[in-house]
Amino acid sequence: MNEIDKKLTEKEVRPTAMRTLVYQQLAKQNTAVALTDIELAFTKADRTTLYRTIKTFEEKGIVHQIDDGTGISKYALCEPGCNCEIENDLHLHFHCSNCDKTVCLTEHKIPQISLPEGYVAEDVNLVVKGICSNCSGS
Ligand SMILES: [Zn+2]
Ligand SMILES: [Zn+2]
Ligand SMILES: [Zn+2]
Repeated sequence: MNEIDKKLTEKEVRPTAMRTLVYQQLAKQNTAVALTDIELAFTKADRTTLYRTIKTFEEKGIVHQIDDGTGISKYALCEPGCNCEIENDLHLHFHCSNCDKTVCLTEHKIPQISLPEGYVAEDVNLVVKGICSNCSGS
């Protein structure tokens, strides 16, 4: 069994050719990708299959969805050991207004958020907007 199949199996996802290819494609990126980017990489694949693959990955904690404010959902692979838990795993995302790319800042966890009594957080989506290090030239 190859590395990717092993990772999928660990997350209780049965490795299929399509899933392995999509995983590979995501692993190659250092920015978050939209479904349309994945479609462009697999022009011969059925859109519904690609969509379902991503949704399965999301449900099983292989990828996380990022709402970067552009109106298009983006996806990025989770780090090893990530359970997408608010307190432990969620990190900041950065959207560059110059190159329009969204990246995971996995080293920068979301700061603790205090909510009024009775409010239960289920998901936190924190996107910082500005100019990325590539574009700022530093
Ligand atoms: Zn995750
Ligand atoms: Zn940029
Ligand atoms: Zn991320």
